This record gives sequence, structure tokens and C-alpha cells, in this order.
Amino acid sequence: MDQEKTGDNQGAGEQRVLVSTESPAINLERDAKGGIVVTRRPKVTLVMLSGGIDSVYTLVKLLRETRDEILVHHVDLINQEDRFRIEGKRCLEIVNYCRETYRDFSFSQSAVDHRGFRFFGYDMVTVGFEAGIVAHSYLMAKGRPVDRWTVGTCTEEGHWEERFKHVEACVAANCFPEAPPSFFLLPMVTKREEMDYLPERLVDICWTCRTPVKTEDGVEECGECKTCELMIDVRQERARALVAEPA
Ligand SMILES: [Zn+2]
Repeated sequence: MDQEKTGDNQGAGEQRVLVSTESPAINLERDAKGGIVVTRRPKVTLVMLSGGIDSVYTLVKLLRETRDEILVHHVDLINQEDRFRIEGKRCLEIVNYCRETYRDFSFSQSAVDHRGFRFFGYDMVTVGFEAGIVAHSYLMAKGRPVDRWTVGTCTEEGHWEERFKHVEACVAANCFPEAPPSFFLLPMVTKREEMDYLPERLVDICWTCRTPVKTEDGVEECGECKTCELMIDVRQERARALVAEPA
């Protein structure tokens, strides 16, 4: 039933790659006489949007290069880091930009509040739990399933397959007793390749710092967290390339 191609790095056991261009899903229904009616429809793809470069790249790529029905969901991961405010704000701007520039899609948000706990939980596990909520809700509302779901990642950050089993268990738990959507990743590219693919305005809207620092009129990047360190390098690399090849 799944007509997509799997990538050649599947054997590495780390990454499942699905390249989707024309990607119809198939509906099987019974007609009044008990016969089976087969209809083709665009795949329903759920993108979990964090507001960072990776998930925005994933969203834009799917909006531009597939005919999938796209559902976008953002989880406010509320904890002492206070990152959720700026991330939520940027996600709304990203959604507005993408709707105006590419095409329409549905957008939803939920919140998980772990303030007051020393352990915030693993962001990705929470994201999986909420992906299951979105998928199950969609099935109840539309009578057809979400076919697949995805998150953003890049070569530098990779995909932790061992931990991801737990994430998929959370998706499945919230879809029970129905089957969960399958998980897929777009072919992984570097952070720089992602940024080069995106319009500059959209790159600027993305929020990448994990531990924002409060200022008088808002927040700014900490410049020290793992993502900030990577972003400093990539931004310098891109700036050097611009100097070398002026437009
Ligand atoms: Zn930072």
C-alpha cells in the first residue's frame, strides 16, 4: 500500500528515509452492496513543529514538494527554561508565513506543563505523546487516519533510534486501539543546507536557542547552549560564503 521509496541508508539501522513526491494513500470502503471501493487520496502527513530550523525545513519541504494534506502541530513544552513563550510566538509567525507563501494547512497547539519538576521529561517523548493525540483526534473528526508523522532533525543532531522506540510507543499509546501513523524522516541534510533551502526571512523567524536569556524587552539567545554553538558556526560559515560569492 505504501508506494514510497526507502533511502539507501536504511541498512545503517539509524534512519528511515522516505522520499515523497507523488504520494497517494488508498482508502478502502464498503459500498451499499458490500463491495469494496478503492479511492486514492493525498497522504495525510503530520509535522511536529518546534519553531527551529530543522522542523521548519521539514515543513517547507513537504509543503513545496508533496501534495500531502499537511497537519502541523506545536507543543508548548512548559518548564523552568521558559523557552515555550518565544517558541510559541515564533511558531505562529512561521505558520502565517508558510500559509501565505506556500499553501494552506491545518495548525494546532497543545501544552504540557512540567514546571515544579526537576525532571522536565524528554522533549521528544512528549512530542510523540502529543502526536498521538493529534492523530487520534483527526481520525475521530474525519473518519480516516493520519498516514504518517515526522519531526525535524539535521545531520549534526542525528536521530537517536534507540530512544525513538519509546517515542513511537507514546504515539501508539494515544492512538490505541487504532494503528498509529508511521514515522518517517526526510533525507537528512546539514543545518547549513537546511538554511540555504529556506527563504532568509523564514530563517530569521526560527528560534533555535534552548535556554533563552531574559532581557528588558524580551529574550535573546544564550550563545552557549548546544544549538547556539552550532548556529554560531553555521552563521559564520554562511557569512563567509556570502563574502566569497557576492550576489
Ligand atoms: Zn542558546
